[in-house]
Amino acid sequence: MQLPPDNFNPAPSVAEELEPGLRRILAPNPSPMTYRGTNTYLIGTRDIAVIDPGPANSDHLDAILAALGPGERISHIVVTHTHLDHSPLAAPLSDRTGAQVHAFGGPTAGRSAVMEQLAASGLAGGGEGIDTAFAPDVTVSDGTVIDGDGWALEVIHTPGHLGNHIALALDDLCFTADHVMGWATSLVSPPDGDLTDFMDSCHRLRQRTWRTFHPGHGAPVATPADRLDWLVNHRQSRETAILNTLADGPATARSLAERIYTEVPPALLPAAERNVFAHLVDLMGKNLVSPIESLSALATFERRV
Ligand SMILES: [Zn+2]
Repeated sequence: MQLPPDNFNPAPSVAEELEPGLRRILAPNPSPMTYRGTNTYLIGTRDIAVIDPGPANSDHLDAILAALGPGERISHIVVTHTHLDHSPLAAPLSDRTGAQVHAFGGPTAGRSAVMEQLAASGLAGGGEGIDTAFAPDVTVSDGTVIDGDGWALEVIHTPGHLGNHIALALDDLCFTADHVMGWATSLVSPPDGDLTDFMDSCHRLRQRTWRTFHPGHGAPVATPADRLDWLVNHRQSRETAILNTLADGPATARSLAERIYTEVPPALLPAAERNVFAHLVDLMGKNLVSPIESLSALATFERRV
């Protein structure tokens, strides 16, 4: 679901200072999935951390290197998750700078047990674009502090959009990547996305007081707590709609999506179906629904209460 239009439209490939020691460079990869493109962040004033180098695009690599002023060098590369619009430029940037790549792990790291089971049973991803070649130099986990010259980034493991997704805290700023985006709700598509994990990650972020969220796509979020509440409420209203519709009788994710997402164009119905399936797996975990036969994306589900 998209948020109301904003004025976010920075020039791609230009480093823009958001505050001292924090710059953003928009990658030139706009699309219906990435909005204006991927936001790459540069942290620091001497030794620089690059958060999410972005897609495999040599112009964007040049733009990141060109942003460095006298006395600046890239000392750390940090990847929030292994989608193709975030991680592929990490390796070329590392080759050019010698900086190590820090991330939670490879493409399937952090995957939940139920999603492992679905993947093993043959459920393919929904085409979100996984960077299957990605391998970090340094593996980080929840609570790891990545220390640099004048800055420290704390890793917060925020699975949901992807099992290996991390957010990064810089004092009271949080780089939320695709967990909280500036322009739309996050995609949660099994078997890579897990809605139970996504909601838990929302609640974890909500426990702290943040000044601003800097997302992977779209404008900074100036009211982080309100945005998290909105995200959670949005998901809860979808859940209610699914449970209410299942009260009319057992149904598949496809037929639920057709009845609930009446406003979406037909081209987006497969994405809506994935979203409903993510909810059904979450509701299964809460013992509120169950598949009539074995669990699969095509299964018919019934309410248990
Ligand atoms: Zn993503």
